[in-house]
Amino acid sequence: MRAVLEGEWLTQGPSVEEFESTLVGYFGAAHAVVCANGTAALHLVALALDWQPGDVVLVPAVTFLASANCVAYVGAEPCFVDVDPSTLTINPCEVERHIIRLKQQGRRVKSVIGVDMAGHPCDWVALRALADRHGLTLVDDACHAMGASYHGVRVGSCDHADLTSLSFHPVKHITTGEGGAVLTNDPRVAARLRRLRSHGMERNPELIPDWEGPWHSDMMELGYNYRLTDFQCALGASQMRRLPAFVAARREIASWYDALLGGSTDFQRPKTAPWAEHSYHLYLLRVPFGHDSRPDRRTFFGRCLQRGIQLQVHYRPVPLNTYYRRGLSTETVTEAFPNAMAYYREAISVPMYPDLTRDDVTRVVGVLRASLVS
Ligand SMILES: *Cc1c(COP(=O)(O)O)cnc(C)c1O
Repeated sequence: MRAVLEGEWLTQGPSVEEFESTLVGYFGAAHAVVCANGTAALHLVALALDWQPGDVVLVPAVTFLASANCVAYVGAEPCFVDVDPSTLTINPCEVERHIIRLKQQGRRVKSVIGVDMAGHPCDWVALRALADRHGLTLVDDACHAMGASYHGVRVGSCDHADLTSLSFHPVKHITTGEGGAVLTNDPRVAARLRRLRSHGMERNPELIPDWEGPWHSDMMELGYNYRLTDFQCALGASQMRRLPAFVAARREIASWYDALLGGSTDFQRPKTAPWAEHSYHLYLLRVPFGHDSRPDRRTFFGRCLQRGIQLQVHYRPVPLNTYYRRGLSTETVTEAFPNAMAYYREAISVPMYPDLTRDDVTRVVGVLRASLVS
């Protein structure tokens, strides 16, 4: 790290390639393109897949806003899809129903974005089959899921998804302050992502018409400054060496919560599919607030906070946001996304980060139980 700060490069030095090759080594995709943050990674995906105004891209109703915003950035339309009630990932049956409906309406459906919610992988095998059947590209927003796998396949390998996005925001599995990456097996897509990351500027003489000399770069398309600095990449490469330990710590913390809450009717865990290995970016619980003398969620949040525990909710369904709901009533949204809305009414996220000790987890669970009562 120190060598990088004292070195000659501040942006786009040797640490960029080092970090990218570390990502390739861990995830097993052929190419990694690092960028400014996870949202920029998704924007680069949207640009590289040529989503245009009039195109439709399917997005799960329960995710972070950025998963849908990347579609809107390029003027295409996100179509929200309900989630599977047990894993909270995009439901492949619902995806197919929407594809058929949209095609009947004459709409151009381009891609499906799956989000490995909380660290639980999507059903990528089913989604790949669907994408092939309907001629769509498949994007894995894996910002929650470094270290997760399905059927023994690592998330990020791009065995099923065409492109995978990662985030290195401090709350995620590894951090570079802000940072992100796109993974792909397609060398042409990787080259395009690199060009879009730096203003759309091409420097390869073989690709520049009427190349004039070494000073000649050609802006071939509209790109952005989405680069990640050399010193952030040095941090990223060292964080990657610690990733297996971070994932193991999160899994152990989850096993403590599981043991302390197992069998509780007050606090229910979303299920992990038998083919999935979860990587626990988040630990989600469902509580039937307001039923059988349980408090409502606001009261419960307040009681937990007074006892020193800050809860969160991941996430309020994206189509409920003013920007996306376009005046629709909550009832209409609830009818369209019954599983997302049923989850949302009951959802809490409890503390989950690698430094938590067993005593911390015991204390959190004690506060949860006490706060149901008074
Ligand atoms: C964090 C996150 C992003 C965006 O990442 P940033 O690095 O914060 O821009 C996108 N999608 C999901 C699912 C995320 O959790």
